[in-house]
Amino acid sequence: MICQKCKQERELFTGKLCSSCFINVLEKRIKKSIREQGGLERNEKILFLLDESVESKITKFFFEKIYSNLPLKIDYEKKGSENPEFSGLFDYQKGEYDKIIVPFTSEKVINDFLKSLFENESFEREKRINFLESLTIEEIKDVAKIKNFEGITNTHELLDKIEEKYPGSKHSLLKSIKILES
Ligand SMILES: [Zn+2]
Repeated sequence: MICQKCKQERELFTGKLCSSCFINVLEKRIKKSIREQGGLERNEKILFLLDESVESKITKFFFEKIYSNLPLKIDYEKKGSENPEFSGLFDYQKGEYDKIIVPFTSEKVINDFLKSLFENESFEREKRINFLESLTIEEIKDVAKIKNFEGITNTHELLDKIEEKYPGSKHSLLKSIKILES
């Protein structure tokens, strides 16, 4: 198959791009998404919340690729698999850090938002950067395959069902959340 970008004969991901073009496209999209979420400034104090998931490995991979030249003060906090919801996140947001980076995908963001609606909780995202917000779970799985990242991938069944029944709803929901927040 021919990559739509570099026109080389390669194995294709998402049906269109070879692995290196695919990674480049995602890198650009992540950069833009981080900028839209307030960006990272030099010398900021950053807290990374990671777990055993594939999403965490992908977050670290792209972070090192994109921000290796930006001087930042970084602390890592590893969350165990017993804590997939990253509870305690709100306490960190009130703390000493300038930004909190979490390996959340668009699915996770939408899921949390819907949950906050039904459970009447606040959907606070002050200081928080959802590193993989611009990536879908399908893209996450492709990156994991390319980079040989192993581990669990978080699934959001309710959302998958909605998307299956109403294709495009994930994208619309994320857009609506952004509008509500701004
Ligand atoms: Zn290519």
